[in-house]
Amino acid sequence: MSESIFAKIISGEIPAEKLYEDEHCIAINDINPQAPVHVLLIPKKAIEKLADAQRDDQALLGHLMLAAGNVARQLGVAEAFRLIVNNGSGAGQTVFHLHLHIIAGGSLAESKM
Ligand code: ADP
Repeated sequence: MSESIFAKIISGEIPAEKLYEDEHCIAINDINPQAPVHVLLIPKKAIEKLADAQRDDQALLGHLMLAAGNVARQLGVAEAFRLIVNNGSGAGQTVFHLHLHIIAGGSLAESKM
């Protein structure tokens, strides 16, 4: 499988402003934001989709949850944000490199999706 756009951003082949970076993941603004805050948290390890994660990835998945909280705090939205993972094309996944959508702002409480 060819490298995803996110792999190219992680390697620096495609430039992107990183809002956050640590040894395991990066966060960037979504190019097509669906809310006032719409950030993508992307593990550096290329896992195609969540259901492909293995037991060995347990620490990484936990790390992403903690990093999501850190990014939300950094952006001043730690009191109200939503995480979304689209798994598979049937669920709307278009980039096959695992990522978490961090969504905040607007009327989150009214929409549960
Ligand atoms: P969906 O497109 O349905 O949201 P995904 O969950 O796979 O599916 O999300 C991929 C996300 O990546 C989209 O929100 C899209 O806007 C975003 N995106 C695609 N290319 C880039 C890019 N170069 N920089 C930032 N975000 C991107």
